[in-house]
Amino acid sequence: MKEMESLFTVQEEDTVLRQLQHRKENLPEAELVANIENQLVKLAERKNLLSAQHLETVQRQKRLEQEVEAVESRISELDGKLYGGMITSPKEATSLEVEIQHLRERQNELEEKVLELMEEVEPQEREIVEIDDENHKAQNELEVAHEALQVVTAELEETLKDAQQRRKEAATETEDELLKHYENLRGAFGSSVVVQFDGNNCKGCPSTMPAVEADRLKQIPEGSYSNCQECGRIVAR
Ligand SMILES: [Zn+2]
Repeated sequence: MKEMESLFTVQEEDTVLRQLQHRKENLPEAELVANIENQLVKLAERKNLLSAQHLETVQRQKRLEQEVEAVESRISELDGKLYGGMITSPKEATSLEVEIQHLRERQNELEEKVLELMEEVEPQEREIVEIDDENHKAQNELEVAHEALQVVTAELEETLKDAQQRRKEAATETEDELLKHYENLRGAFGSSVVVQFDGNNCKGCPSTMPAVEADRLKQIPEGSYSNCQECGRIVAR
């Protein structure tokens, strides 16, 4: 009797262990940590891309500003020439005026482009600040989520250890051969390797037992067991 009881305990604890293991592998706390880590990776990628774009825009802006400066200094050079009293022919003066006019047009074009780029830079910088904020927030969330995961994992490990201990104790109280037999059948029957005979039927059988098999099981002494010829499970009397 005790023998079968301990085997039932082994089976119960195996079921508990399997459920705990499943819980451990599917912790929502672990999923949350993974989600936040994933979010952080995406934020970093987005920031890298944006920073590169921002850098490029700023560099283009700088190059244009240098060009504006060059044009400006060329204009003032020509202005100096034009009004410096060095020009003798009206033709030369006209040609200088035309060149200055072209340069002013070029300057306006360049300055417009600089303004356009400045308008591009602004939202880029705003978004980079937003990403930094989001990143900071996610880092804090990650810390909290990590702690929660650690707490729940430690609790679960404790529960697992207790169940393992109870299983071990029940296993030592079970006859070796019966235990081995039980373990060989676990793959096939999971949490119902060993079942009770209810007086007429094996509880593992899906339908009513044939009378011959039921009679055979009735002959077995109580507290003992046999293999069900119908479903293959261990039937306890
Ligand atoms: Zn059966």
